[in-house]
Amino acid sequence: MRDVAFPLLGAMMDLDDPEDYTAAGIVGVGWASTGGESAAMFNENYLAADGIENCIRVLEQIDNEDIQNLDFVELNACSGGCVGGALTVSNPYIAQARLKSLRRYLPVSPNRPTDGVLPDSMLKKRPLEYTPSAQFSDDRDEAMHMLREMEDICRHLPGIDCGSCGAPTCMAFAEDIVKGETNADECTVIMRSLFHQTLSEHEQKAVMEKLKATGGMPDENA
Ligand code: SF4
Repeated sequence: MRDVAFPLLGAMMDLDDPEDYTAAGIVGVGWASTGGESAAMFNENYLAADGIENCIRVLEQIDNEDIQNLDFVELNACSGGCVGGALTVSNPYIAQARLKSLRRYLPVSPNRPTDGVLPDSMLKKRPLEYTPSAQFSDDRDEAMHMLREMEDICRHLPGIDCGSCGAPTCMAFAEDIVKGETNADECTVIMRSLFHQTLSEHEQKAVMEKLKATGGMPDENA
């Protein structure tokens, strides 16, 4: 994640008016959050759920025929939908609020075909194929175990999504830990707190002096 987040952020800064997206309306940008796809169907007979545990529960209920007569089921593994996913580079709650305010000023749907016929370019001509992306493991049980481990680690992280560790969010950082791509001590917030907890005032001062001498810290008196 850390290899992707910052280059992606840099590239996004250079985008000039991405025409395809600015032409989307309330319906189009709504797809980024849970219930957006369902709302675009203009059909009230739907169910929309998010978060992997909730999606599993819904699928089990459908399997057991506890839920019936739906025209559309929208399931998002990420909490809140795509906007809460690991590749959302800003804090998911801030992204969600931005999405809501963006929708307030958009037309309903500038791209909806007026005659009800979808253009050829929007039709999928071949069956959808499952493409695993960034999965924890080929083994489903192991992948679920690692997912729970990631959520557990995330609960113990500061949760401020500052990005100092190179991952865009604490959840993405927890994912990197579970994959063995980083260690908890890369979280600068945790390290800072450990630094203050474990070293005496005298030792902290000595470390600071050393860092200043090597140019690793700005000299406040300079
Ligand atoms: S440095 Fe720590 S608090 Fe900041 S995003 Fe990374 S894990 Fe979260």
